[in-house]
Amino acid sequence: MGKRFETEILHGSKKSTSKITSKVTPIYQTSAFAFKDLDELEGYYQGNGQYLYSRVGNPNTDELGEAVARLECAPAGVASSSGLSAILAGVLAVVKNGDHIIAADDLYGGSYHMLKAELDQFGIETTFVSFNNLVEVEKEIKENTKLLYTESITNPLLRVENIKGVVDLARKHQLNTLVDNTFATPYHCQPYPMGIDLVVHSATKYIGGHSDVTIGVLTGREDLVAKARAKIVNLGTNVSPFEAWLTCRGLKTLALRMKAQSSNAKKLAEALSSNPFVEKVYYPFEQEEEGYGAMVTIELSKKVDTNLFFGSLGWIKIAPTLAGVETTVSHPLTTSHRSLPQEACEALGITYEVVRISVGIEHVEDIITQFEKAIEISH
Ligand code: PLP
Repeated sequence: MGKRFETEILHGSKKSTSKITSKVTPIYQTSAFAFKDLDELEGYYQGNGQYLYSRVGNPNTDELGEAVARLECAPAGVASSSGLSAILAGVLAVVKNGDHIIAADDLYGGSYHMLKAELDQFGIETTFVSFNNLVEVEKEIKENTKLLYTESITNPLLRVENIKGVVDLARKHQLNTLVDNTFATPYHCQPYPMGIDLVVHSATKYIGGHSDVTIGVLTGREDLVAKARAKIVNLGTNVSPFEAWLTCRGLKTLALRMKAQSSNAKKLAEALSSNPFVEKVYYPFEQEEEGYGAMVTIELSKKVDTNLFFGSLGWIKIAPTLAGVETTVSHPLTTSHRSLPQEACEALGITYEVVRISVGIEHVEDIITQFEKAIEISH
């Protein structure tokens, strides 16, 4: 007698895939992997390259970690559920209760909040200081300092970090270093070959590139990435195979997107620099002829009604994210940097008039026209 209906539903249709060679890595949308006998299961623990359980490891998530590591010229990489969880894993790979971190005072607001409001409760202390002057950073180093943490291009004021200086300082005091490379991406900047220990991405942004995933990747020194991987497994901050698969797909066009978006960004920054109703334009003009990154931050003149400006941008959406292929704008003071104390925002120059622009791949003339029109309407 064959299988009964209830059994057939579950066990009748499994296709053998061993002879199928798919051009693209299939999505291993499974929580666990199956074994033919106990010897094969034991083989997993002996390191035969099989997979066991997706929280511990999955071909799609591994593919992404390895791909970003290759682009960062780093020996190892691991994916996780978000940029923040990748930062958390990286930080916890280096510090423990009783240790001290020195972080740049212009970090992304969510990273600041994680250090200040969460890790602080676990006895991990952070001093936030301007990395503009590394002599001042050096003065904050204490006996229990273990980590220097900054961003290669800061959010939202686009300060380009002196990575070499940070590496020299860390080496002098035997500290580890972590750089958030989300804004620059390895297309523009590779901190690992410059001596940084850990390089992290909110892959939600340019690595994914299409605003349809929340995901993080940590790359860097093999021993530290192994520790970070253990944190991701033990804290359960792994990412789903489908999100990793989508991100691998997005990653294939990273170079094309960054080239087009950075070029558009530089042209937009140039155009807005000569607009009398724009007080200040933040863009790393001096870095690369073709443009260095696709973010442009502006401070509108007080003569412009900021709210009206945001409401007059037409097809340019207001979105509290960045790095998609569509141009979007955000208001750092009330979104990404909302968790920073008011005085800190003021000191950094993140005022109500500051607008962060994530430049997309539309025709550059259309982008420029749209911003000029919105400024015209709102002053
Ligand atoms: N790092 C930077 C520079 C960011 O801009 C963000 C989010 O905007 C993060 C980290 C956090 O990433 P996620 O939202 O993927 O957790």
